[in-house]
Amino acid sequence: MIRRERHERWMRRALSVASTSPRDVPVGAVVLGPDGAELAAAGNERELTGDPTAHAEVLALRRAAAAVGEWRLDGCTLVVTLEPCTMCAGALVLARIATVVFGAWEPKTGAVGSLWDVVRDPRLNHRPEVYGGVLDDECGDLMRGFFRDRDA
Ligand SMILES: [Zn+2]
Repeated sequence: MIRRERHERWMRRALSVASTSPRDVPVGAVVLGPDGAELAAAGNERELTGDPTAHAEVLALRRAAAAVGEWRLDGCTLVVTLEPCTMCAGALVLARIATVVFGAWEPKTGAVGSLWDVVRDPRLNHRPEVYGGVLDDECGDLMRGFFRDRDA
């Protein structure tokens, strides 16, 4: 399977876990092992749990680390429907994620190329490979639909 098809398949999985509660912004994340097997998945649970750090990426990284049995996620891929924020970009670098695949760009808070580029700062010794804009339209539509309904 070519890389683009693999990324799109993973992104569809991330989209499917995006909505966990009706008040949470619909973001979904999946962590795949080096062999492409799914280690963990999570949606944004900030409102559900009242936890400011309960972004989909952080929860998926925690669950993946628990599944693997250590914090180091060498060779793993993080797939997320929205460009990660500074916290999540920092967390995935700390977890040594090898590849980041994200959906919609987030020009207001994105830290993987939009507002900042935390994951490819040349001063860091770990810099993952990045693929942005995968299923951009579907991921963006999910967000736009959420805010349209919420603000209606
Ligand atoms: Zn985040």
